[in-house]
Amino acid sequence: MNKLESDIIEELKSKFRGEILLPEDHGFESARQIWNGMFDRKPAIIVRCIGTSDVINAVNFARENKLLLSVKAGGHNSAGTAVCDDGIMIDLSLMRGVVVDKKNKTVRVEGGALLGDVDYETQLHGLAVSAGIVSHTGVGGLTLGGGMGWISRKYGLSVDNLLSVEVVIADGSLVTASVDENPDLFWGIRGGGGNFGIVTSFEFKGAEIGTEVFSGIIVKKFADARKYMQFHRDYVRTLPDEMTVWMVVRHAPPLPFLPLDAHGTMVVLIPFVYLGEQTQGEEFLKPIKEITESVGEHIGMNPWVAWQAGFDGLVTPGARNYWKSHHLADLSDECINQIITFAAKLPTDECEVFIPHMEGAPSRIGKIETAFAHRYTPFVLNIHTRWQDVTDDEKCFVWARAFHSATDKFSHGVYVNFLSDEGEARVKDAYTNEVWNKLVEVKNKYDPKNLFSMNQNIKPSL
Ligand SMILES: Cc1cc2nc3c(=O)[nH]c(=O)nc-3n(C[C@H](O)[C@H](O)[C@H](O)COP(=O)(O)OP(=O)(O)OC[C@H]3O[C@@H](n4cnc5c(N)ncnc54)[C@H](O)[C@@H]3O)c2cc1C
Repeated sequence: MNKLESDIIEELKSKFRGEILLPEDHGFESARQIWNGMFDRKPAIIVRCIGTSDVINAVNFARENKLLLSVKAGGHNSAGTAVCDDGIMIDLSLMRGVVVDKKNKTVRVEGGALLGDVDYETQLHGLAVSAGIVSHTGVGGLTLGGGMGWISRKYGLSVDNLLSVEVVIADGSLVTASVDENPDLFWGIRGGGGNFGIVTSFEFKGAEIGTEVFSGIIVKKFADARKYMQFHRDYVRTLPDEMTVWMVVRHAPPLPFLPLDAHGTMVVLIPFVYLGEQTQGEEFLKPIKEITESVGEHIGMNPWVAWQAGFDGLVTPGARNYWKSHHLADLSDECINQIITFAAKLPTDECEVFIPHMEGAPSRIGKIETAFAHRYTPFVLNIHTRWQDVTDDEKCFVWARAFHSATDKFSHGVYVNFLSDEGEARVKDAYTNEVWNKLVEVKNKYDPKNLFSMNQNIKPSL
């Protein structure tokens, strides 16, 4: 840093309450890490905010000094947008407060909280916020893109449960957005990602799910995958919104309920959550159990907090990851053939093909009611390519891209939060034209100079 820059930093320090880290500072190395180990970017400065006034100071500092700006909440975006080279990283990970309004069943969540933070606090009152399935994911990025998980079929996406947000916009002002206040901004942040400002707090509706849910995993042989998938594609669509059944094709983790000789073999995992009585849930599982032989199963009433952290160990931070995704209108025989063909060639033991079933409450919301555009397709096809060793990069990229293009013809859009860094045109695939045009208008109004550009970017047209 030259003299002038040091002066500027000193000035920022005089009004900043959190931590300011420069590359030579202790803590800088760990603060710049994000979930996806593919990214080794070095910001010029990291500001670790502890409150809204810090965020305002950081945004003003970035704008006045024309710095590239990135925002980190949970740091899980697989495209690595939370960290930038040579700019300012605004790190919200010290802002993890969650306050539950028990009477009104609403939950106020700070911008850097993790899903586990929300579960721990809401569960004290038997509430949950509809969100994702891994407890170390950030509420910030997940919500701004949409937010889907085990209870979305019943309660809607995270954005569908959002009541209001506090946002620091590009000019440094703090605004509230809700249906009544700045409704255009509120519309845009419900699916448009971090394009419009930094959300310092989210206010959600809580769902009364109790503290235990009937849930578990049934494990099927990969040899029966075709038969199982052909059954699954129709059967899960007959189930009530309370029952969510997904499919994951991968090498079996060493789960204690599986026979030892099944560990590491190819399997189809069928995880489910039922928001209702166990006896009724068991009835819904019968056809799943009967259609093909199971390798093992773990089924029962599980504490929600534990279930929400049950998959954490498979996706720990630091590994190399390359994600590709499509929304699917159905799982046709031809699509199933491609899935099985590519699953049979998983390039590493940590890769998986992940197929959530999404229709339900999200698909009963109007197509431009929020900026989350692709609500009506039942399935998502997620190609989760994951490996540890840099020497595996090439084979993993080749496999993921070939799989993705072989299934492209079945695609009906994509979820913005499952995109890698795939270029400008691909970001548009996350939206319909109508939604995209409206997003550009909101961007023009709230961030005309594209200060918030480290994201799946919606460029202003001004
Ligand atoms: C292991 C894993 C599991 C996942 N599971 C699910 C799932 O079950 N359901 C689902 O819907 N998605 C899931 N995702 C995808 C997830 O929604 C995205 O990766 C999301 O971007 C993560 O948010 P984050 O805050 O952790 O990420 P970050 O990388 O910190 O943030 C991503 C981007 O969001 C923006 N942003 C974040 N916070 C704010 C804020 N407070 N204000 C303004 N902008 C902000 C910034 O542009 C930032 O670059 C998962 C991802 C991973 C890696």
